[in-house]
Amino acid sequence: MGYDAKLRVWRGDDGSGQLQDFTVEANEGEVVLDLIHRLQATQAPDLAVRWNCKAGKCGSCSAEVNGRPRLLCMTRMSVFAEDEVITVTPMRTFPVIRDLVTDVSYNYTKAREVPSFTPPPGLAPGEYRMQQVDVERSQEFRKCIECFLCQNTCHVVRDHEENKPAFSGPRFLMRIAELEMHPLDVADRRDEAQSDHGLGYCNITKCCTEVCPENIHITDNALIPMKERVADRRYDPIVWLGNKLFRR
Ligand code: SF4
Repeated sequence: MGYDAKLRVWRGDDGSGQLQDFTVEANEGEVVLDLIHRLQATQAPDLAVRWNCKAGKCGSCSAEVNGRPRLLCMTRMSVFAEDEVITVTPMRTFPVIRDLVTDVSYNYTKAREVPSFTPPPGLAPGEYRMQQVDVERSQEFRKCIECFLCQNTCHVVRDHEENKPAFSGPRFLMRIAELEMHPLDVADRRDEAQSDHGLGYCNITKCCTEVCPENIHITDNALIPMKERVADRRYDPIVWLGNKLFRR
């Protein structure tokens, strides 16, 4: 049975904006993105929203629903009471372009700063050989759909624009961990993780893990192991001495 849902949607641009109330038909089985599309079709044809697959796989429709970072296409209307006001706002960590669409280019800048996969010299494509057991550790991280909900949630940058130049965020620290754990990657990424990508800013509050729609254990499986590797390199006296003597 359909009902009239109460939506409160942020409308505006990078200069100003406000929340606007709408009543939108909701039907059984629908998600918040269905209502946003119905709102566009019936009352607000100029409402800006980014989306693509509507199946939780493209990572485009990231926004905040009642203040919680979520994919609009994976947020079922059935989790809300029928008389509840559902507030939909753009991701807070990135500059608004218009309505629910934000400028996520910070993430692309950070992505470009991570040195790419570095296989052993002399190994040609086609000669790569890896054991499944060695691949498994980092395979989980390949599920990332780059929705940037973790980047949006992370308190290091959420309320601290000034930290953005020095901090790459959970998604890209996880990418560094993925390459560091890759059985064929020969680059040593530990110093860069700390000095160029701000690993030390992360205080493992796990807020990124909580919002990941792919249920990747970002903190436990990527960030903490990466911190351990950095600590081993920096603070283990024998490793420290070896580094000094042999300039590794
Ligand atoms: Fe989104 Fe998860 Fe990837 Fe972060 S790690 S960008 S929350 S899919």
